[in-house]
Parts: sequence; C-alpha cells; structure tokens
Amino acid sequence: MLTLAQLQLFCSTDPLRIQQLGTPFNYKGHTIATDGRVLIRVPQHPDVIRLSVLSPKSLDDVLAYLPDACPEDTGLCPVPGLPAEKRRVSPCTECGGTGKLSDDVCEECDGEGHWEDLVPVQVGYRYFDARFLELVGSLPGVRLAPAIPPMSTDRWAWVGPMPFFFLDGGAGLLMPMKVHASGNQP
Ligand SMILES: [Zn+2]
Repeated sequence: MLTLAQLQLFCSTDPLRIQQLGTPFNYKGHTIATDGRVLIRVPQHPDVIRLSVLSPKSLDDVLAYLPDACPEDTGLCPVPGLPAEKRRVSPCTECGGTGKLSDDVCEECDGEGHWEDLVPVQVGYRYFDARFLELVGSLPGVRLAPAIPPMSTDRWAWVGPMPFFFLDGGAGLLMPMKVHASGNQP
C-alpha cells in the first residue's frame, strides 16, 4: 500500500488549486491524488477521510480514461531512463536576464530573469514532463501505456486518449505534453 506521503506528492501545491487538490480525497471507493496533470488512484486509504470537492461529472469524465484493470496488451512499458536535468533554465531574452524593463518588472519572466522550461521525454507515441515521469517511476511496479496513437494527425501530440499507468496497488493518468516532432517545445 502506498503511504500518505507518497500520495501527497501527486497533490497540487498551486495556491489557486490547493483547496480542491492540495490533499488526497476519497471518491467511489478509491483514494485519489491529483494536481490536474497527473493523477493516482488507489483503493480507499485508511488514513484519508476527505471527500472529493470536485464535480462528479468532471471527475468521472477524467476517470473514464482509466481502465478498472490493467489491460493485457496496450504496449505497456517501464519508465525510461531520464535526463539528469528535469527543468531547462534559460535567461530571459526580453530583459537580458535582469528581470527589469526600464523601471518595470519584466512581464515575460515575472522579474525572475530566466525561463524554466519543461523537459519532454518520449515514451511510445507520447511525450511527458520528465519531472512527472520521475515521480511516477518512483512507485513500485510501474507500467506505462502510452502506445495508443494520438488521434490528431498534426504534430501536437496531445489530442487522444489520456495515457494511463498501472503500478503495484494502484493506477493513474499522466497528461502528455504538446511537443513538436523535433522534440523541441513550441
Ligand atoms: Zn525578463
């Protein structure tokens, strides 16, 4: 059984979403933890008492992508080797890395002076944020099912069924990234 601390890693730390998604919650006999981009579902955890505050319709729509049992043949694969850098930091070209434009805060980088880009990693037909693959890959017995081709014919490989994964004692969904065929982010 996953620990509460392991489930908490899937919850949101965004101040705007923390009230809804900041801790695991129970729904229809399961405990769910999600930040809106990655979701994990386990049998109802004895230490979780909070009920879902999300609309049942929106939650059911998302959970419809997740099979009840791990399918036999969907091209399941382990989490691949990941790059050492899970975030790509580059200086903001708008303000030259100073964080300021004349006397104002640079809006392009919110005054940080740099951009932080996600690092896409390809698995099957899809690309995923390396940070989330690292998180999912830390769980026991993870098998990813990204082999269902996206329905879209263009290079924006996010349209299509939400890729799911199974692990020992649970399952989940992982939002793919929009990535050009070159592997570079738009
Ligand atoms: Zn800037």
